[in-house]
Amino acid sequence: MPSARAEISDTAVSPDHYIGGRRLSSHVTFEVRSPLDWDWHLADVARGDALTADLAVTAAADAFPGWASLTPKERAEPLFRLADSIDENIEMVARVECADMAMLLESLEARVIHRGAENFRNYAELAVSHQERRWSSKGTDNHVERMPAGPAVIITPWNAPWLLSTWKLAPALAAGNAVILKPAEWAPLSASLLADLAHDAGIPPGVLNIVQGHGDEVGAALVSDRRVRRISFTGSPETARHIGQAAARNIVPFTAELGGKGPLLVFADSDLDSAARRAAGQYDDAGQTCLAGTRLLVEESVSTDFLELFNRHTDAHILGDSRDPRTTVGPLIHPDHLARVEGFVERARHHGDRVIRGGERWKQDGLWYEPTLIEPVDNDSEIVQREVFGPVLTYQTFTDEEAAIALGNSTSYGLSGIVYTGSEERAERVGRGIRAGTIWVNTYLVRDLTAPFGGIGISGIGREGGDYALDFHSDLKTVQVGQGTVT
Ligand code: NAD
Repeated sequence: MPSARAEISDTAVSPDHYIGGRRLSSHVTFEVRSPLDWDWHLADVARGDALTADLAVTAAADAFPGWASLTPKERAEPLFRLADSIDENIEMVARVECADMAMLLESLEARVIHRGAENFRNYAELAVSHQERRWSSKGTDNHVERMPAGPAVIITPWNAPWLLSTWKLAPALAAGNAVILKPAEWAPLSASLLADLAHDAGIPPGVLNIVQGHGDEVGAALVSDRRVRRISFTGSPETARHIGQAAARNIVPFTAELGGKGPLLVFADSDLDSAARRAAGQYDDAGQTCLAGTRLLVEESVSTDFLELFNRHTDAHILGDSRDPRTTVGPLIHPDHLARVEGFVERARHHGDRVIRGGERWKQDGLWYEPTLIEPVDNDSEIVQREVFGPVLTYQTFTDEEAAIALGNSTSYGLSGIVYTGSEERAERVGRGIRAGTIWVNTYLVRDLTAPFGGIGISGIGREGGDYALDFHSDLKTVQVGQGTVT
């Protein structure tokens, strides 16, 4: 029996799983509240367990052969319809996502929800336009076929649920896999809307399944199921270790897009005001962005000027309700996360690191935390070495390019880096020197969907994006035809 829908910002959202084309409730639920106002109870969402995982994988395994046997063009049709339907429902999805996880409503409406549509369009087009690699050698004609791999599990975090779910679902579906998505328990609601839109767009029953619940319960059961042939995960390195063990037991390929502690390097030859504005922009989304440049590394000769500009830009931030267009920094996702961020800053103080600005809750009765800048006593400080995932940046200086690169590479992470310089040659050298999956020079967050995306070190395993994701979701087969002999 499906449960009653929850009314959230004028939208009826199902709190149930979506399995085999149907809504399914659980006996147990978990409570979802809004970070905008913790007294705002959004929904009691179905809390899946091992049985739920079994039902979802069974539905996917049953649907897989039919979906896999379609041509890429046939699969593209419902994916294009889904993309169009997302574009027609941007405001509805944006309002629910904003209530659920407090990303700024304006950016959800202007870019983020539409990006989900683009994810589906992009992968439908890529799969259709794919040309098999063909070549001749040693008397044989060779080509490489992509075969759909099988049921795939996708696990996403709470900080960009819509963006990341669509980013991961689109290639899996376009490649011909049937999918089970488990969104994060702190922000599960936009995934439920996606199930409705996918259903209406004609994605066949069982091809897309969405299960709700806790990671160590239904999530762990999903990734352990032997019928699952691909696991695509975004979240923390700690969880990736658990999922990696499950994947290893079943010899299943998995990708992991994990945390970051990116450097934002500012050289004296850069446009200092742009660099400072960009640095202050790292507080956007309350710093809950894996790609953020959270370690400000500034050339010593411009340190005073930079800090003045940075403070000016940071002072211009407006903390408030994410639905208000004037707001630039919303609340953190959850009281536990606020406590985690506070814990980092308290330990930093205790360690002797200097809090240059911020370092407190903004108001006692909400989940906001002040934009905070900390100068560590040394590079080994926890605040430099571990991802905080809140509005907390560190500040360090360097004297030359070599030292800048060394500092940039001095953590175990390697997701992204940002470089501000006026010199093309320096940009080339520093960009090459920083070990990270993505480097931005004099810009940030611009990304072509066909480019590879992923991390180095504890920031991840594997690459998604463009053909990399389609290859990941396929078994590649080399076919050789001809009279050639073994040489
Ligand atoms: P998390 O690892 O706690 O949870 C992520 C997901 O994994 C959730 O859906 C959770 O329920 C599930 N999960 C937890 N334990 C599991 C288990 N044993 N088996 C299966 N699933 C399990 O991460 P989070 O706190 O939700 O997200 C924040 C983290 O995500 C940060 O580290 C951030 O940097 C990272 N992140 C990375 C990227 C990227 O692209 N590299 C993007 C966004 C967020």
